[in-house]
Formats: sequence, structure tokens, C-alpha cells
Amino acid sequence: MTTPSFLDSIDSQLDWQREVYKDLHRNPEVSLDEHKTADRIAAELEGLGLEVTRISATGLVAVIDNGTGPTVLARADIDALPVTEDTGLDFASEVDGVMHACGHDMHAAALLGAVRLLKENQDAWSGTYIALFQPAEENAAGAKAMIDDGLTDKVPTPDVALAQHVMPLPAGKIFTAAGPVMSAGDSVKITVFGRGAHGSMPHLSVDPVVLAASIVLRLQTIVSRETEPSEFAVVTVGASNSGSKSNIIPDRAELLLNVRTYDTAVRGRVIASIERIVRGECEAAGTPKEPTFEYFDQFPLTDNSEAVNDTITAALTEFFGTETVLEATPATASEDFSELPNAFGIPYAYWFVGSFDAEKYKAAEEAGTVLTDVPANHSPFFAPELEPTLEIATKAQVVGALAYLGG
Ligand code: ZN
Ligand code: ZN
Repeated sequence: MTTPSFLDSIDSQLDWQREVYKDLHRNPEVSLDEHKTADRIAAELEGLGLEVTRISATGLVAVIDNGTGPTVLARADIDALPVTEDTGLDFASEVDGVMHACGHDMHAAALLGAVRLLKENQDAWSGTYIALFQPAEENAAGAKAMIDDGLTDKVPTPDVALAQHVMPLPAGKIFTAAGPVMSAGDSVKITVFGRGAHGSMPHLSVDPVVLAASIVLRLQTIVSRETEPSEFAVVTVGASNSGSKSNIIPDRAELLLNVRTYDTAVRGRVIASIERIVRGECEAAGTPKEPTFEYFDQFPLTDNSEAVNDTITAALTEFFGTETVLEATPATASEDFSELPNAFGIPYAYWFVGSFDAEKYKAAEEAGTVLTDVPANHSPFFAPELEPTLEIATKAQVVGALAYLGG
């Protein structure tokens, strides 16, 4: 691939991209409610002369059919979070209690920019480019919604899918890796049942508070005693709720768990262990009723194809240089992006774009310390540096696509 010189023309469109980004940031909408966001993006795509196909209530796709060659699908997520913004930015959220605290506004603005560059420079590449704007990443519902609404029948089958995410990593850098880069995520609501009684008459009860406490402790052994030290798993009890008054023994307790893994087999074992431990503790407590398990917010593993990652990494490195493109450390966060390529049965690559104070990171590295005072995704202070993040993320999308479409 030769370095695509048309990427220099990004200078003439960056003001437009900044304006779109700030507008999306000011007007965040939570998962599955991205109506105005989708309308704004659709209007921009139509302004570029593209036909927009709505898939699911708030998902949309635009296809640039540019002759023979491979088909690349590039995806940006567009939803925001129920977080109250505290960044102090002059384009901070104008919606109470809702914020683009995960940078999906940046992903959308970057993909729009990539679409415009590719649309206006069609003589520099050939093939088919599918820009997909996906709702509801945060609750793992959006990719599924688009697939359920016939995505695979409504667009050409891609050869490869690409996506990226802004991260609390040094701005101006891109991080790629083969294999698992984002964990599988599972949440489960467990309800255990006891027998309620007066607080002064414990012998007449089966106490679900004691039972839940015992379960919480025993669950810690799944990672510490059952998982191979070289394997990765997280089991977090994020909520434990039972009872309402000091002198009433309640009749049930509810636990909310979150599980993260990088391997399907490990995931299966961890989930089986959770159910075994809960059932075992219920048996030990003599509960009158079987516990229940309700799984929700289930995210698939993001497992980059080695071939696609190699191709993308080589192209990005050739364009940006070895100082800019670095090896990614897998993130323990999760994503529903891989549902899309999995639905088509195609390989994919997902990379990270650094978006925070590069000087701070450099100073920490030189001091041999780990930087922890950078706001993480989902924090009310999450504010990616607009420069150079938007430009880098836009170019990364184009360079990634051209690795396949550039001839
Ligand atoms: Zn997020
Ligand atoms: Zn995100």
C-alpha cells in the first residue's frame, strides 16, 4: 500500500468533524434512545450524497459502492451513559444525568470523517465500504438489535470488520494486538430464598443475609483457587441486597455479579462454578426454595484475527510510524462489536486510540510509575483530548480500510 496522500485533505474537513463531535457531546442519548443522534448522523451522511439505511430503531448504515474489490465494514457506536458530566468542557452535556462518558461521540465523528474522505477520494481506492453506526453498545443490545433487524441481508457481506475505541492511554498513539483484546462480560442476578422471621427468633428462620454473606466469600475462591494462575478471570459481586429493618429476618437476598474472561472455556467453568457454589450454600443453609439465576448484559469476547490485525498494524505503522503504533495490552472491559462480524462469519480487528495527556504518561513512564489519575471511561470527568485524537482516529479508520481497499 502506498501512503494515501489524500489524507492530507482532512485539514479542510476537521472543523466540520469538531462541530459534529461537540454537538453529539452536548446532546447525549442513552442506549436504545439514540433517536436525535441517529438523525444527526443520517443527515450528515445524506449531506455527503449517501443513501442511509436504518437498521433497528436507532442503528444506521451507509454503503459506498466503489467498483470491484474487497468489502470492508467499519463500525462506530453512538450511545451515551446515565452519568452526570463534570468535565467543565464548554461543550459539556446539556442533558441532565446523561453523558458521552465512553467517547462514542468521538467514534461517530471519526467514522463520519472517514466516510467523507473515502467518498470524496473514490479514485484512490476500489471496493465497497460499509459505515455502520451502532446503537446501545453499553448494554450489549445494539449489535444484536441490528442483526435481529436483518443486517446481514440488508448490506453486502463484508470480508473484514474494523472498529476502534478511545481509551485512557496517551493521546496521539494507537494500540493494536492480535487475539483477545476485550474480555467477555456476563452479569447475573442471583436470588436466594430463606424463611423470614422476627429478628428475636432466628431459630424459626432460614436467614438469607447469612447465606448471602457466605456465598460472597465462597465466590472469591473461583478465581483464587479454581482458576489456573496463568488464566484470566474476574468475579465481582457488585451488589448484595437483603432486608429492610434491624429486627426482621428477610425471606430472600439478591446478589448482582459481574464476570470477565478472555477464554470461552474459562468463561463456561466460572459460570458453572458460580451456580455450583450458590446451590451448595443454599443446600447447606437448608433453604426452602431453589435459587434463581438471571443472566443479562452479556458481552461476547473481542478476539482479533491474527491475519487482520497483522494487515491493519502494518498499514497503520507504515502511515503513522513505529512511535505512534504500539502493542496493546488486553482490556478487561467488554464490547458487543464482535457480534457483527460473528453474524457474517468474518474476521475482524479492534484497536485502541489513546486520548489523554501524553506528557503525563511520559512523565509516569520515566518515573517508573503507573498513571492512575486519568479519568477512566464511564467517569464523569472523561474528556478525551480533541486534538489530536479526532484526527488520528479518523485517519486510523481510513488507513485501516485502505489496507484492504487501497489496491
Ligand atoms: Zn462504555
Ligand atoms: Zn465504549
